[in-house]
Amino acid sequence: MKRAASVGDPIRYRIRPADPHGHHFEVEVELLAPDPAGQRFALPAWIPGSYMIREFARQVVSIEARSAGRRVALEKIDKHTWQAARCRGPLALRYRVYAWDLSVRGAHLDSSHGFFNGTSVFLRAQGFEDDGCTVEILPPQGADFADWRVATTLPRAGASLWGFGGYRANSYDELIDHPVEMGRFTLAEFQACGIPHAIAITGQHDTDIERLAKDLSKICEAQVRLFEPRSRKAPFDRYLFLATVVGDGYGGLEHRASTALLCARNDLPWRGMTGLPDGYRRFLGLSSHEYFHSWNVKRIKPQAFTPYDLERENYTRLLWVFEGFTSYYDDLMLVRSRVIGVDDYLKALAATVTHVLKAPGRRLQSVAESSFDAWTRYYRQDENSPNAIASYYTKGALVALCLDLTIRERTRGARSLDDVMRLLWRRHGRPGASQPQGLAEVGFAALLKEATGVALDAEIARWAYGTEDLPVAELLGGFGATLETTPGATRESMLGVRLATRHGETTVATAYTGGAAQLAGVSAGDAIVAFNGLRADEKSLKALLERHQAGDAVRLHVFRRDELLAFDVRLDEPAAVEASIRLEDRPKANVRRLRDAWLH
Ligand SMILES: [Zn+2]
Repeated sequence: MKRAASVGDPIRYRIRPADPHGHHFEVEVELLAPDPAGQRFALPAWIPGSYMIREFARQVVSIEARSAGRRVALEKIDKHTWQAARCRGPLALRYRVYAWDLSVRGAHLDSSHGFFNGTSVFLRAQGFEDDGCTVEILPPQGADFADWRVATTLPRAGASLWGFGGYRANSYDELIDHPVEMGRFTLAEFQACGIPHAIAITGQHDTDIERLAKDLSKICEAQVRLFEPRSRKAPFDRYLFLATVVGDGYGGLEHRASTALLCARNDLPWRGMTGLPDGYRRFLGLSSHEYFHSWNVKRIKPQAFTPYDLERENYTRLLWVFEGFTSYYDDLMLVRSRVIGVDDYLKALAATVTHVLKAPGRRLQSVAESSFDAWTRYYRQDENSPNAIASYYTKGALVALCLDLTIRERTRGARSLDDVMRLLWRRHGRPGASQPQGLAEVGFAALLKEATGVALDAEIARWAYGTEDLPVAELLGGFGATLETTPGATRESMLGVRLATRHGETTVATAYTGGAAQLAGVSAGDAIVAFNGLRADEKSLKALLERHQAGDAVRLHVFRRDELLAFDVRLDEPAAVEASIRLEDRPKANVRRLRDAWLH
């Protein structure tokens, strides 16, 4: 529904970190002209970008409605919807939300900081989704919080950035796409293609902030230039990286002009750091990934997401394009912007190959099916997931690699996957795009052909909709790069298991389908206590396996629940799954040209 513009916005939100110690935000939503038949309000069942039903309304701990100073009856009619009794308005709801989820998807509040996604805290007034709203963000009360600031890309009129006070959004969709951080974060501001960017870091850290800002700036510039090589125009006025530092953690969620990141303290660069530690490369890759989403999924969307239905699962078979391609470009943009070297890039690419090869589930599920089932399978993994599912992230990234290399080879370097991304952008993403309703479930191969002149219908059918292994090694060979797979440094693959140490016990995390342990009767969850009569833990088990050959019979003792069981296991060959990629020293001139165009 669209209301005529009257005096100001018809919806007003106010949010206050009312009780940092009890982790409660207090929120008010006021509607000037509610539905006279009984206004409904709801919280989303999920947050766009994270494809799982989360039912944020679970964290609403109290709620009441008032109009003209009087209580209005409020009835909960399903798991996330409330209906107010008839009233003429204005109608105001006041409620408290419990915020103790330190992830990029939820809301978190204590005396050190507050963070929220709109999906956790802002009730949607049904029928008013397309109306503008004002948002007043208030500080916690007390002198202890006098130095708190606010970091968000929610637009604000007139007032300076980083302050409490009034913000606004043009629609509910916009309101929930600008996460908010409040507290004593470290702020570094930088420019990329003339656009203001910033990173706000929350949590204790000793980051070399100049180094970080310099590296992020290069990555952002490279991406803007990929999509808009001529105008170098970004699709936002400003961009914000919101990073929360913890001892151990990893995650990111994309938004239209910002991203929320969770990272380990040691992943950030420090003064005097030499070389490129894996943790920092991972952090740059994560930042690059979420930034690339500003185009690929936040603006170029699958049709299934335009608009998002926030009440239930939104099914698409195309997450291999939106997450897989983004996963391919995240590291590629690091090497192309020269923030990392070619060797570091190939190491990261080899790790992706290893990840894909380790999961036998790739033989049962295509990345298109994996996309469709993201809600119930990729996002809800268990001990059998490596046996049963393919990752639309890692295998999707390799599908992108195979498409890119094939296009480059067949056009002798004249075209690449970059041209496909630019056509997707012009057609489905850029303001004024001819098909803003998004990418249809079928037709990607035709779009790829239009962008590059190369017909890859059969390859896409096999690689994205089939389950055979991808020709990564063969294609890399045409670019003067050799892919080798060798048995891993640890020999647990001889047992056909993935091990994990839990509560001091060496546990079978996954028993791979058809592996030695599974054939003998060992199951996921079994705690291994002895190997050939000798007490074994994760470390000693690997050492004992070193002394054996494929075909040897060994006896494993395990506890399943509290019962001791013995199994005779015939060992497998160590699996050749550890991938490495090296560049040929003297490739032919045409191969070198292709390779340089790909990586530089
Ligand atoms: Zn992603």
